[in-house]
Amino acid sequence: MTQNPAIIVQQVDHYFGSGQLQKQVLFDINLQIESGEIVIMTGPSGSGKTTLLTLIGSLRSAQSGSLKILGQELCQASRDTLTQARRNNGYIFQAHNLHGSLTALENVQMGLEVHGSMLKAERHERAAEMLKKVGLEDRLHYLPSGLSGGQKQRVAIARALVSHPKIVLADEPTAALDKKSGRDVVDIMHDLAKQQGCTILLVTHDNRILDIADRIIYMEDGRLSKQPEAVS
Ligand code: ADP
Ligand code: MG
Repeated sequence: MTQNPAIIVQQVDHYFGSGQLQKQVLFDINLQIESGEIVIMTGPSGSGKTTLLTLIGSLRSAQSGSLKILGQELCQASRDTLTQARRNNGYIFQAHNLHGSLTALENVQMGLEVHGSMLKAERHERAAEMLKKVGLEDRLHYLPSGLSGGQKQRVAIARALVSHPKIVLADEPTAALDKKSGRDVVDIMHDLAKQQGCTILLVTHDNRILDIADRIIYMEDGRLSKQPEAVS
């Protein structure tokens, strides 16, 4: 069976700023990720990991090369195309980005906004079910301020996955968590992703979670390579 790659990045460069202050942060990035694959990207701080993730997630527009996400070219794409493409993805960031005035259940329901046609009752049911899957069935009506770091991150995972996105992009999702909570949230991501068949690209510095990856890639100074052999 031939699988369509979910993500194909070819010869992508990226620059910030302009004129004399212009700085190149990505150099000739080539990356292909198959549907259903879990890929972890590591590498030093400032090496360009977040920049690449935001390009793939169409949170910023690609300047050169080719960036095909789910078969659609995003390089030089229109605003509308980028907005549309963004809706296909689930995002999980370190600073969980939950709405402080909304309960866990309401935050997860926000993840279903893309399905404008869904009835309120169904939204409620799907969100509650997803919170149950991440082990928060007894916290549905808590505000984020009443939840621990690990619990908030689990709400963020539920919100990202509730719409069954084809691609999940996670930027250092365990950075603010203790060892046990960090492990728990990646295990949940891994299991849900394998159930839903979604593709995951996860940026992390956390060596303890590398084993959930099908493949590990390494970013250094704006260039992508395979993980270097461990030096002893
Ligand atoms: P990482 O996620 O690996 O820590 P980033 O992708 O955030 O790295 O940053 C790569 C480089 O691009 C860094 O030198 C950073 O300072 C620079 N950079 C990131 N975002 C911007 C921006 N919005 N404007 C200018 N420079 C930026
Ligand atoms: Mg970063």
